[in-house]
Amino acid sequence: MYDTIIIGSGPAGLSAGIYAARGALKVLIIEKAGIGGQIATSWEIENYPGAPKDTTGPGLTQRMRDQCLEFGVEFATETYMSNEKIEDGFLVVTDKKNYQTKTLIVATGAEPRMIGCKGEKELRGMGVSYCATCDANFFKGLEVAVIGGGDTALEEALYLTKFVKKVTIIHRRNELRGAKVLQNRAVENKKVEFVLSSVIEEIKGNGMVESIVIKDVNSQEKTDIPMDGVFVFVGQKPNTNEFIGSLQCDARDYLITDEEMRTNIPGIFAAGDVRKKSLRQVVTATSDGAIAAVNVIKLIEDYA
Ligand code: NAP
Repeated sequence: MYDTIIIGSGPAGLSAGIYAARGALKVLIIEKAGIGGQIATSWEIENYPGAPKDTTGPGLTQRMRDQCLEFGVEFATETYMSNEKIEDGFLVVTDKKNYQTKTLIVATGAEPRMIGCKGEKELRGMGVSYCATCDANFFKGLEVAVIGGGDTALEEALYLTKFVKKVTIIHRRNELRGAKVLQNRAVENKKVEFVLSSVIEEIKGNGMVESIVIKDVNSQEKTDIPMDGVFVFVGQKPNTNEFIGSLQCDARDYLITDEEMRTNIPGIFAAGDVRKKSLRQVVTATSDGAIAAVNVIKLIEDYA
């Protein structure tokens, strides 16, 4: 039996792994193919305290994973399906195996939200992308649109300028949500153009994106603009499908915990972007993971 099973290997899960294994617990991290959660597609992490310049998402998570391995954390590349209460803990079922564990830490993170406009689904992977780091290279010298006005949209738009001829940031309000420092960088970048107070109505293309139809929310006027690619950064949704109905969630399906990362079920903790919280950052994810692990250790010591 494991002392704790951590579901998810982003910064929250890996940090929980480091703290739990360093606390002499028997730890398993269940991860889907590939590690790193959303940070794995972040090209530059410049606000994680102490991170050297040019730290990348994959680089940072690889170092966290190496730390886990040094402390004896086990990893299984499987898909979590469900859990059920057993006498001393929980039976965890994955697509490959069953495991017994005294406690569980849910660190399944969040994933990109879709706009829901016509053509988005059909042209996904054919010019519609949710990851600049993954796909920027395909758009060398071309023109792309970035949808959204938050930190992610601004950061990814700036990243895209290294590859493309022009980035048009399309945002539904006349004011951006992202941090001022990123706004300033985007405004100063000659390759970036803004179309504010506008929503995207349709992505058009025959096998590849060819144009987008945007609507000015004030005048209701629609414009069809030729475009080679559309990068969508309109926020995230939590990966909580397997927990809805058992763990308490907020209206947007983020898991509700107390400050000690305890969910409504004793022995099940949650950490990172999957939680209801005010700031979703690597630094808060790793903090959550550490707090969850320390509380797991306390709980297990109480059992003993
Ligand atoms: P976000 O802050 O929730 O921003 C989402 C953006 O998409 C908003 O501008 C929103 O518009 C827009 N939007 C939402 N639904 C839309 C729709 N259906 N159609 C068109 N636009 C839509 O999400 P995020 O930028 O991914 O950031 C998530 C969290 O990570 C935030 O806390 C952010 O600060 C953090 N983050 C930080 C950094 C950094 O510090 N370097 C980098 C990336 C992310 P409205 O503004 O009108 O709501």
